[in-house]
Amino acid sequence: MTSLSEIAKCDVCQKQPFKYRCPCCSKQTCSLTCVKQHKNDTGCSGVRNKTAFVAVEDFSDLNLLSDYRLLEDTARVTDKCKRDPLLKHYKSRSVSETLPIQTGN
Ligand SMILES: [Zn+2]
Ligand SMILES: [Zn+2]
Repeated sequence: MTSLSEIAKCDVCQKQPFKYRCPCCSKQTCSLTCVKQHKNDTGCSGVRNKTAFVAVEDFSDLNLLSDYRLLEDTARVTDKCKRDPLLKHYKSRSVSETLPIQTGN
């Protein structure tokens, strides 16, 4: 039941079978010309969204690396907040202020 019209074609020119997939919106394109055309038509950046969903069958080492870097970035920011002396000062002060004063009787 597979007819010629069912073969995946380039989404831009609809003439050639697609070779590339836009990393941003998954649009299928057959050539660099059509990639450029697609970006012009849709204003698509052609850049992969770091947090976009990636299907397991599409998941590559590059995706893994990108995810890893994202996690690394997050860890760095968290670490920076923990070390922030101002934040530390504020935290310790607010804790002592809210603690009930023990009179010791
Ligand atoms: Zn094309
Ligand atoms: Zn795109």
